[in-house]
Amino acid sequence: MTLPPTPPTGLHEGGCAFADGAYVPLSEAKVSLFDWGFTRSDATYDVASTWEGAFFRLDTHMDRFFASLEKMRMSIPYSREALRAILHGCVRASGLKDCYVAMVCTRGVPPPTKYGARDPRLAENRFYAYALPYVWIAPPDKQREGIDLHISERVRIAPESVDPTVKNYHWIDLVQSLFDAYDRGRDTSCVVDAQGNVAEGPGFNVFIVKDGEVRTADRGVLEGVSRRTVIELCGKLGIPLRVAPLPVAEVRAADEVFLSSTGGGVLPIAKLDGVPLPCFPGPVTQRLHDAYWALRKEPAYRDEVDYG
Ligand code: PLP
Repeated sequence: MTLPPTPPTGLHEGGCAFADGAYVPLSEAKVSLFDWGFTRSDATYDVASTWEGAFFRLDTHMDRFFASLEKMRMSIPYSREALRAILHGCVRASGLKDCYVAMVCTRGVPPPTKYGARDPRLAENRFYAYALPYVWIAPPDKQREGIDLHISERVRIAPESVDPTVKNYHWIDLVQSLFDAYDRGRDTSCVVDAQGNVAEGPGFNVFIVKDGEVRTADRGVLEGVSRRTVIELCGKLGIPLRVAPLPVAEVRAADEVFLSSTGGGVLPIAKLDGVPLPCFPGPVTQRLHDAYWALRKEPAYRDEVDYG
């Protein structure tokens, strides 16, 4: 599919979407009521970010998106370089330096037949992208004050049912856990797996630190780009790391807990269900936090947006 010309900087100031092959203001970006992305959560997506005018690990996000498309038996009519141009175009048109940048593919609408529309093979997949102001899992002042994380008893949809390594819109468990958290006066939440291990939260992976060792879940979670960054940073900094289950009791007994997300990088946790953790912000968390933000400045990880 041919790409529209690069949009001028600020064409859609404050936020820009790419829908049906054109750059449009966010308010004009729409999907059909009948798209299976809406009626069946039959969609995959990815979220990258820009900070101070440059993407972080954009290729890693695009790799994950294309891998997800394949697993979902979906396709988009754009090459990798065209996708890159569209994402850059959305940011440039928004005029924003710090952005949340999404790429989304939905199943689309299967063509109606005499007997209704039931066959996903016949649907034309739809592609959307957009850039918005950067979204934080918790705003910077809340991070300083201390995030109180609720460990919900809700069980994340089984990885045997929905492959969590495909970034997906199966969020009902996560959203309900957020309501649980807010009802209890907590700031955010995470859910567990069927074996009683902490899995992940709405938009983030969970890490603990115990006796100097960092640990994060080995399965049943999205393999977050920030999670991968933390894992790589542990290697670089010589911090012991184990990718292994996180039983709830061990999370509650941790020295430090932190979250990883494109929405904030490394986010220290101060309390679990109102109970203060021994260290906040813990020394290991602080090192990884600083290393994450330093890495975002390294040219090898940056993809600069050309604002013209
Ligand atoms: N887990 C879930 C369910 C997510 O939705 C996200 C991001 O939105 C993450 C983990 C963290 O992934 P990333 O580090 O790629 O942002």
